[in-house]
Amino acid sequence: MNKTKYIFVTGGVTSSLGKGIVSASLAKLLQARDLRVTIQKLDPYINIDPGTLNPYEHGECYVTNDGAETDLDLGHYERFLDIATSQANNITTGRIYQSVINKERQGVYLGKTVQVIPHITNEIIDSVKLLGENNEYDVVITEIGGTIGDIESLPFAEAVRQMKWEMPKDCLVIHLTLVPYLAAAGELKTKPTQHSVKKLQELGVQPDILVCRTEHELDQDIRSKIARFCNVSNESVIQSIDAKSIYQVPLLMQEEGLDKVVIEKLGIKTKEFPELAKWKKFLENEANPTSTIEIGLIGKYVELQDSYKSIIESLNIAGVSNSCKVKLKWIHSEKITAKNVEKKLSGLDGILVAPGFGERGIEGKIEAIRLARENNVPFLGICLGMQCAVIEYARNVLDLAKAHTVEIDKETPYPVIDIMEEQKNISNMGGTMRLGEYKCEILKDSNAYNCYEETSIKERHRHRYEFNNKYLEFFEKSGMKATGKNPDTNLIEIVEIPAHKWFTGVQFHPEYKSSVESPHPLFVGFINACMD
Ligand code: GLN
Repeated sequence: MNKTKYIFVTGGVTSSLGKGIVSASLAKLLQARDLRVTIQKLDPYINIDPGTLNPYEHGECYVTNDGAETDLDLGHYERFLDIATSQANNITTGRIYQSVINKERQGVYLGKTVQVIPHITNEIIDSVKLLGENNEYDVVITEIGGTIGDIESLPFAEAVRQMKWEMPKDCLVIHLTLVPYLAAAGELKTKPTQHSVKKLQELGVQPDILVCRTEHELDQDIRSKIARFCNVSNESVIQSIDAKSIYQVPLLMQEEGLDKVVIEKLGIKTKEFPELAKWKKFLENEANPTSTIEIGLIGKYVELQDSYKSIIESLNIAGVSNSCKVKLKWIHSEKITAKNVEKKLSGLDGILVAPGFGERGIEGKIEAIRLARENNVPFLGICLGMQCAVIEYARNVLDLAKAHTVEIDKETPYPVIDIMEEQKNISNMGGTMRLGEYKCEILKDSNAYNCYEETSIKERHRHRYEFNNKYLEFFEKSGMKATGKNPDTNLIEIVEIPAHKWFTGVQFHPEYKSSVESPHPLFVGFINACMD
């Protein structure tokens, strides 16, 4: 059995170089060599978690089985690796400080002055080593958010330096940089990479491997130059060229020998080649679709597509499993009105109404759902999308004028979506929703059962409001059925309209449980219905 090895992935020059994808790709290659791998993200911001961040700030908030609200990179990790992550896989500066301050108040530090070094750095090191405990993993990959040189990531770099010093044979640092192409000079430039490596060296960290993001192939001369000036071996300069699909990156990294250099440097004994048959099959299907459909994605954060990252990827993956290319039409819910809805949504093969919070854009979502319901267009509503489907049905079919969710209208005469009992007295916003995995029992005669082919499932949640069971009988008599319920609390988790071609609203977030090698059954079912 291998001793747990720690790989750190840092970033230089600019943000958005794709550290998350490179980390997930390396993890995939190691996993495909039969190693037990997990990935962790350390975020240098002061929020305790991204749960309270506006999606415009930081994209989607990804929820794990244990109910942690985490960075969207964890979604990539799960989709690539087909394993579950947890709170331990996402640590922020805020969480580190919160823990240190709590310990200080408890007297844990025995009267010592509490400082960034060693107390904050030790806390960071502990949260990295936590994943290596109990020999659960052969490799723990830790992605450090932000860019080296930022003030806020200094303690993280120091923690990496100390871990490398303490365990030189078991730690490895991969630094991701940019090699820009200057069109006017017709040349690739290595200076930004050199400077960012210098920055890392100033912090006492010598990277072992450089992954260089580039839009053009790096020739041998450039690679040797980078190696020489950055103090790494030639084979440790890895090119990361722009790929058509993020799922090609593991294969590109394999061609460049990233996994090989990593296992050599860490002295890991493992299979000689990664077993990637299933992954390659996915790529082949992705590149050769036999049909195309267009789905309207209705949400209020459409300007920043990262806000719906897991939904987009789940649709894409489910499409690939049906050999179908899913084109997305982004439609801003705020711009949809009763007058323009037909024009805006015409010709779509399916409509997905996204999750969300607050009033903005809600009437547009309701109009889109009315159109889908009246015209037999396949519909999937997720969380707020499901709640809007209930509101739409109440208003337009049950004749409950002004029916609403109490999230938006506290005085509504028909609170068809109500606040959950246990949420009533909560004033703290962070980490207090109904979060994480809950059971759901499914009725056999339903879209949901046709998808899952199971009567008992578990899905992840992130909400405060729920279907108001006082209205259930009325809805069911009039054609909208609750086909999924939580067996312990009776909370309604799935609603459907059996008379419709495919109309399904889910209170949970199926998008958090979709992976390349296990496409989510509900998304697969939705795509199937759209293709029909
Ligand atoms: N705002 C709704 C609630 O809290 C829906 C949340 C969501 O879509 N994730 O219940």
